Amino acid sequence: MKKLLAAVMAVVMCMAMLTACGTETPASVASDAVSAEASDAASAEASDVADVATLVVGTNAEFPPFEYLGDDGEVAGFEVDLLEAMAEKMGVEIEWQNMEFGAIVAAIGTKIDLGMSGMTITEERLQTVDFSEPYFEAVQYVMVAEGSDIATSDDLKNKVLGSQLGTTGNYFAEEIEGAEVKTYDTFVDAVNDLVAGRLDAVIIDKDPAIVFAGQNEGKVVALPGDQFNFEAELYGIAMPKGSEWAEKLNAALAEVKADGTYDALIAEYFID
Ligand code: GLN
Repeated sequence: MKKLLAAVMAVVMCMAMLTACGTETPASVASDAVSAEASDAASAEASDVADVATLVVGTNAEFPPFEYLGDDGEVAGFEVDLLEAMAEKMGVEIEWQNMEFGAIVAAIGTKIDLGMSGMTITEERLQTVDFSEPYFEAVQYVMVAEGSDIATSDDLKNKVLGSQLGTTGNYFAEEIEGAEVKTYDTFVDAVNDLVAGRLDAVIIDKDPAIVFAGQNEGKVVALPGDQFNFEAELYGIAMPKGSEWAEKLNAALAEVKADGTYDALIAEYFID
């Protein structure tokens, strides 16, 4: 509960000081001293909240069930709970910064310390950022209108396809022969255009596809990626090249896996 409250407070404070949150130097600069101190339990106990390092984490909170805005307007979801649990192990606070997915990688190391947003570990991204160990296996799905005859990758040729800017789904759409690709700032906008009949299909990660299809039942359906020969993708937490946080994040991930927290969150957020 305590960590939840801290998370909520961080977001509230962030909302209260919008400009400050956007322009602040990432707080991890001060983290070395703090993590050295954290090994001494007594001094960590006694340390003032202001002394605790805060990691500013960029996410696009429109990607359920990984991250979304809850009814109270706060960032919530599987990744939010997972990173909060890991942060507790690392003795740091997390400050979520909601932003467009396509802007996250470029902001890492300047406006934000880390990016966590259902981000697939790709060769291209590895040119500019490092990733933690993978924490989730995903695959692209294809959303189509109910009753559509699209069922295989061949059926996507020469169709009007939608996806979100800078995503792997967008990349795959661009590869499809003869396809007209429409790119959106958010998947929600792409799905809305599919529902409105302006797209033949949306290429989007499996779990958000299932959530969005559920929200638009009777209008659109989510088709499994293996019908389209899409391969597994692995999500990782992105950070600046050479970041010392890699080791800490990987250790914390191993800890939350070992103590059952990870499995409990999977059971909470995913049906299958
Ligand atoms: N997994 C996809 C990618 O990394 C989509 C992520 C997202 O839209 N949040 O590009």
